[in-house]
Amino acid sequence: MPELPEVETICRGLRNSVKGERILGVAVAETRLRAQVAKDFAKTLTGRTVVDVGRRGKYILIRLDGGVVWLLHLGMSGKLIRVPERRLRHRHDHIVVRLESGYELRYNDPRRFGFSVVARAPEIDSLPQIRALGLEPFDARFDPGYLYRLARRSGRRIRDLLIDQRVVAGLGNIYANEILYYAGVRPTARASRLSRAQIARIAELTPKILAEAIRWCGTSFSDYRDAEDRRGEFQNHLRVYAREGEKCATCGNTIRRVSPGNRSAFYCPGCQK
Ligand SMILES: [Zn+2]
Repeated sequence: MPELPEVETICRGLRNSVKGERILGVAVAETRLRAQVAKDFAKTLTGRTVVDVGRRGKYILIRLDGGVVWLLHLGMSGKLIRVPERRLRHRHDHIVVRLESGYELRYNDPRRFGFSVVARAPEIDSLPQIRALGLEPFDARFDPGYLYRLARRSGRRIRDLLIDQRVVAGLGNIYANEILYYAGVRPTARASRLSRAQIARIAELTPKILAEAIRWCGTSFSDYRDAEDRRGEFQNHLRVYAREGEKCATCGNTIRRVSPGNRSAFYCPGCQK
């Protein structure tokens, strides 16, 4: 699933390539995504110009003129790529946005867990999906105190707390596992039992590791591609995620995989206590 670094990479790419572009037409081939695509979706977008592209959590916010925002979530397997219009379309290209420059923005999603909605700019923050989000990890208010307050009253494992979108917007399983590795904390540890110093390490590492992943354009295992349909490279820099059975680069112990709550967690028994 695309997480913050992948979504941010897509947004940065689009900001460079489609800002100022006018939308000539929109084709919706499949309306049955996680929520039904509105009937007037194509009509609302057509004729508008892209003013900016932003992100909130794992949501892409494409701001158009007239105060209209196209909000998109990529779900489990979604891609949003910009390609020349002559390029062959694929079976799961559910939404195709035709641009004045001869390019198209294509939203492709085999599993259809994605979400596409249009809203007025002032309404964005009050949409239930956005309103429920916790702090952005790059927000100055995301500090050890914020995380410690939430951890202390949580009955959950630290990994589960970190991937809760109401706690850290955009953080998912890949990066939560990596952050906990560098913090020296096991993903299965109870959040409320961690010391202030352990929580402080986690809070400080979170934006650092996410920034590093953005620098490598995100992690591509299978589906994820950036806005130009290229793979990310951070999978080559992961220390524990999906590396069970391999040797830890720091201490040489064998990386383990466990599945608390049916969600894989990875750790080094030597480095993480
Ligand atoms: Zn180790």
